[in-house]
Amino acid sequence: MATNRTFTMLKPDAVEKGHIGAILEKISASGFKIVAMKLIRMTKADAQTFYGIHKERPFFGELVEYMTRGPIVAAILEKDNAVEDFRTLIGATNPADAAEGTIRKMYAASLGENAIHGSDSDDNAAIEGAFHFSGREMF
Ligand code: UDP
Ligand code: MG
Repeated sequence: MATNRTFTMLKPDAVEKGHIGAILEKISASGFKIVAMKLIRMTKADAQTFYGIHKERPFFGELVEYMTRGPIVAAILEKDNAVEDFRTLIGATNPADAAEGTIRKMYAASLGENAIHGSDSDDNAAIEGAFHFSGREMF
């Protein structure tokens, strides 16, 4: 059974460009409830751990630089079928492949700088949420 929570980050490029409000509005309008949220700058160690699954990939170094160059908005979101529905809302990893109306189509610049993260499974949503938030920061 699908759980009802997912984890997201508005990445440094989206924050730099002033898109926090517009993206959160779209997330809310799509039926997701914010149950945890903060503005935080990840350390290199944070990003290396968070994206540890990609550590052998050629883009890993660039990904860590990108994700640590400024603050992100981290949030936990609640909705029925949250993980799958949120991946649909953000669109394909490469904005060139993302469907019209998706967040990456609207706000992402490139495959590397793609504006937003969404967990890819219920297990990862729980792991990623717990990485960024303590119990008393989740509602
Ligand atoms: N990424 C990249 N080059 C690639 C693939 C991914 O720079 O060829 C970056 C991009 O920011 C992406 C993140 O690494 O969002 C994690 O990649 P993943 O394949 O997990 O994509 P996502 O789950 O974010 O769609
Ligand atoms: Mg992923």
